[in-house]
Amino acid sequence: MRRTTSWPQDAEVVDISGLTLLPGLIDCHDHLASHGYELTRRWGLDEPQSTRHLRTATVLQHTLASGYTAVRDGAGLDAGFKLAVEEGLIPGPRLMLSLRIISPTGGLGDSVSPSGHSCWVPSDPTLPESVANGVEAVRTVVRTMIRAGADVIKCATTGGASSRLGHGPKDSAFNPDELRALVEESHALGRRVMCHALGGPGLRTAIEAGVDSIEHGCYLDEDPELLPMMAERGIFFVPTFTVYVFHRERSAPHMRVRGRDLQPHHVESLGRALAAGVKVVAGTDAGGHMHHINARELQYLVRAGMSPMQALQGATGWAAECLGLARDIGTIQPGKLADLIVVAGDPLQDITLLQDPQRIKLVLKGGEVCVDRRAEQAVYPLPRPPAS
Ligand SMILES: [Zn+2]
Repeated sequence: MRRTTSWPQDAEVVDISGLTLLPGLIDCHDHLASHGYELTRRWGLDEPQSTRHLRTATVLQHTLASGYTAVRDGAGLDAGFKLAVEEGLIPGPRLMLSLRIISPTGGLGDSVSPSGHSCWVPSDPTLPESVANGVEAVRTVVRTMIRAGADVIKCATTGGASSRLGHGPKDSAFNPDELRALVEESHALGRRVMCHALGGPGLRTAIEAGVDSIEHGCYLDEDPELLPMMAERGIFFVPTFTVYVFHRERSAPHMRVRGRDLQPHHVESLGRALAAGVKVVAGTDAGGHMHHINARELQYLVRAGMSPMQALQGATGWAAECLGLARDIGTIQPGKLADLIVVAGDPLQDITLLQDPQRIKLVLKGGEVCVDRRAEQAVYPLPRPPAS
């Protein structure tokens, strides 16, 4: 028999018979340094910075241990965490950072309280000011973000479920000239653009300007031209269903209303995106609502109409493409970095089993074993019932 793979003489052979080998999971939209939606939490007013950082380090560790070997952070995590993971000071997933959300005044990146006060927390040079008005200011902020360590540029062209009253999911931010400048500058400096856009004119502005992924995209179903345009341009769709379950059930009243209104559109948008040939990838938008149950998003993707295999691709191969890391991670192939997980059970039969840390028997990042639960006595409780 011809051997198609070769390995070093001293390689360790790990017997995983009876278990399932998968590429390490990837979350395309997380907020690892966010720990709640209450204003005092969001603005970091309720505890010392050191406590907050240690809390974030714990989240990184648990997220890796739950099988997520790579995470794209949608704002909040600074470059020091990436350095700490790379130096081995703390365990954590491979990180792709955006630092902060770029928007104009009044947009998502502009921290204004319901009373109209601006956030007075001392500015942090590792998370640069992200409000920009006008083409030149936008270019400067992109450059500043990259100087501070951004691997990807995050912007927002609409409000969202959790944004302030008066700036909702279909209210736009940035004019087409500003957004084109943002995309052009980011691409010129080798960075992709992930754009928070839910619906209305701002969603079109983002797609026409050529961003690389649409985050949330709840009302894509309302304009039939947009999805074919995304497919043609290779723009990824990151729906983030998980966060809206939280907003429908536990957020402030105006956020619950927004969360309920967008739900049927969101599901419809997913179906149409798949039909149009848009690649849909998994992102939780975790941070405000929960941490390290990132695989719950796969359950929601399946419930909204993806096959279990499509949902898995959305958290592995397609996700790696979305991040621009397909050469190194996302599939199990010779020549790639060995980001792998070994799972008890078949996720194609039951996608929810990925939410149970006890079933994640091995986690390897770059060929190194980070988590080994093979010796642990296995008890598999049913995963907690998902909030519907
Ligand atoms: Zn987000």
